[in-house]
Amino acid sequence: MNLVIVEDSELIRTQLIRLLARQPRVNVVGVATEEEEAVNLILSTQPDTVLLDLALSPGSGVRVLERIRQAGCGARIIVLTNNIGSALRQACQALGATAFFDKTTEADKCFELLYSWLPPLPDNEQQRLAALLDTRLLDTPEQEVFDDLTRLAAAIAEVPIAVVSLIDQDRQWFLSHFGLEARETSRSIAFCAHAILHNEMLEVPDALEDSRFCDNPLVVGAPNIRFYAGVPLTLVSGETLGTLCVIDNKPRHLTPAQRQALKTLASSVLSEIELRRRVIFLEQEVERRRLAEAHILHLATRDPLTALPNRATFRDRLDQHLRLATRSKQGLAVLFIDLDRFKPINDTLGHDVGDDTLVFMAERLSACLRSSDTVARLGGDEFAVVLPEVADSVDALQVADKIVVALSEPVTVRGHALHLGASIGAAIYPAHGESGAELLRHADLAMYQAKKSGGGRTCLFAQHLSDRAEETQTLDHDLRNALANRQLLLHFQPQAILGEGRLCGVEALVRWQHPHFGLLSPDHFIPLAEERGLIHELGRQVLDMALAQLKLWDEAGLHIPRIAINVSPSEIRPDFAETVEAALFRHGVSPRRLELEITESMLTADGISSIALLNRLRSKGVTIAVDDFGVGYSSLGQLRRLPIDSLKVDRSFVREIEHSPHDIAIVRAIVTMAEALGLRTTAEGAEEEGQMTVLEGLGCDCVQGYFVSHPLAAEALADWLQLFEAAAADPEQAAA
Ligand code: C2E
Ligand code: CA
Ligand code: CA
Repeated sequence: MNLVIVEDSELIRTQLIRLLARQPRVNVVGVATEEEEAVNLILSTQPDTVLLDLALSPGSGVRVLERIRQAGCGARIIVLTNNIGSALRQACQALGATAFFDKTTEADKCFELLYSWLPPLPDNEQQRLAALLDTRLLDTPEQEVFDDLTRLAAAIAEVPIAVVSLIDQDRQWFLSHFGLEARETSRSIAFCAHAILHNEMLEVPDALEDSRFCDNPLVVGAPNIRFYAGVPLTLVSGETLGTLCVIDNKPRHLTPAQRQALKTLASSVLSEIELRRRVIFLEQEVERRRLAEAHILHLATRDPLTALPNRATFRDRLDQHLRLATRSKQGLAVLFIDLDRFKPINDTLGHDVGDDTLVFMAERLSACLRSSDTVARLGGDEFAVVLPEVADSVDALQVADKIVVALSEPVTVRGHALHLGASIGAAIYPAHGESGAELLRHADLAMYQAKKSGGGRTCLFAQHLSDRAEETQTLDHDLRNALANRQLLLHFQPQAILGEGRLCGVEALVRWQHPHFGLLSPDHFIPLAEERGLIHELGRQVLDMALAQLKLWDEAGLHIPRIAINVSPSEIRPDFAETVEAALFRHGVSPRRLELEITESMLTADGISSIALLNRLRSKGVTIAVDDFGVGYSSLGQLRRLPIDSLKVDRSFVREIEHSPHDIAIVRAIVTMAEALGLRTTAEGAEEEGQMTVLEGLGCDCVQGYFVSHPLAAEALADWLQLFEAAAADPEQAAA
């Protein structure tokens, strides 16, 4: 209901507005304080109802009433008064004022009356409004189908006006209007708002005789309705949207034939509306399917976490770009990006933080690129980029470096300040490959190279990376076979007590009899075994062979006091001590005759758990030697607390020892310290007699090197030992 308040007391005005604000169906469209203003406001807004104060200054309420009535305005008038003389009251009533209320004491009664004019709402109002909205008919231009039907309705009923009225939330809107200028009125004064409450036609033979309508503005003023007949337009689904209605300015009745004809026309209007609904429904259905398909496509082609293209899509796009590049004879770059330091974040802060970090990094990555570039998440913390139309590697590396810089900026994720980085490999078309698969693989290899050089950088693909990768691949395969078929064997290098010509032990050094490459030294395959997780099995086989060989020598009457084997850091797993103990037991070898050569790194901070395992073995009698001592980081002072028995002085200090006072000083320091701690020392790599003399002078206990003997196969060692012992017994004869 549209309402105008004419009242010059500010206090009363604000009070009225405040109270009316509680009724959602009443809408105060304007407020006036004096006569002239009031007339203009009412005529321009054509409200349904006016709350009118009679005493205005300047002007008078009665004058307002007179003037608006003269202008044909039929609005309902409620007169607000403090007390009113009967003459004035009669004058107002003559001008169609409906009610009089004392504005200070009777506000409640006034509102009660006001609200009684609001047409009741159907039970299914919300659903009805939704259905109406779904028809998409509101506020559309006139349509011939409906106009034909209203014209026909007016002709059949012999009336000047026929409309199709749709009852919206606060208004009736005319889908078609024959004989009526307006396209809408307020809902509160609409006859049709009453007609939609019933299933049957609502017929009002004379509005002035009907209490619901006698003071209706559309009756009192233009278009001066006297007769109304409306047929409800009810959808199959049960909602009544509005009516087809006919209107006359004089009271009358319809004939049964006219009624029947109107109903028929109404059902034509309705089928037209239903048809539209079905079309809309179909359109929506098509749209829904399209969206569903798009969604499925999205799922299949996108990475759900970052919404970037996934690996498959990346390959597709790369192929497309390659076709274009080939045709236009242009270059193209593929970048393979792997985040640095992502794994520990995921492992220690949890997957939620990990996921958010990836999303964040993906956004940063995208921000570095142009829209013509394709960026994808290949999985985990790996991303890939295609840079089309890249002229050469300089351009590509420039973009890559920009990415490295952007991804190394610190990020804060869920309150954690994180510092990641990126390693990038770049491959250029056509220099580094013709196919998408090849370019991606080569970019991947280059990335790996960038990682190996410390990360936070870009590497360009180079052919040797691929060659090496292929070699590694074959070697990996062969090494697995070798382990399965026990193609590894051991050579043994004697360790002699300096100055005594006696053996203190042998070191077992692994070899691989490769079917094509011949006898391979451990430097060729130990790093690979460590990297591919084969070192554990390799170590077990070496231990087994070494102990078996020691037993064989024992049985042959050869006296080998101790055998040393090399242990890689990654071999030290929780079951390591058990494995060693079991092997010793299986071969019946005393733990005292086994020495484990470990690296310094195993004893530093990260090696705490290995220390416990080594202690356990040591308590059984196994001895521990630190290999390549002097090149690592362990301070001599640290040694005191560690589970070790011997130091092997690294070969690099021995090589120049005859001529280098510096090396002499180092070896002397090591020996002095070792003596103080009760550790044995073995010098490695002595090849010359002169070196032996210096080492003996410095107080080294043992020596291992080519001067004493190269590493030897088991049988060769037996022969060597006989000569060695003979020489010790009779130096003269041996020299001869
Ligand atoms: P390492 O433990 O330092 O072994 C000594 C290496 O020095 C051996 O090389 C040996 O042949 C070499 N060598 C001995 N005397 C001399 C000399 O006078 N001059 C020179 N220039 N070299 C000498 P090899 O057999 O090639 O072994 C290389 C490395 O492979 C070893 O260094 C060791 O770290 C590793 N390794 C060997 N066998 C095994 C094994 O069974 N398991 C593990 N995990 N590593 C092993
Ligand atoms: Ca060694
Ligand atoms: Ca060594």
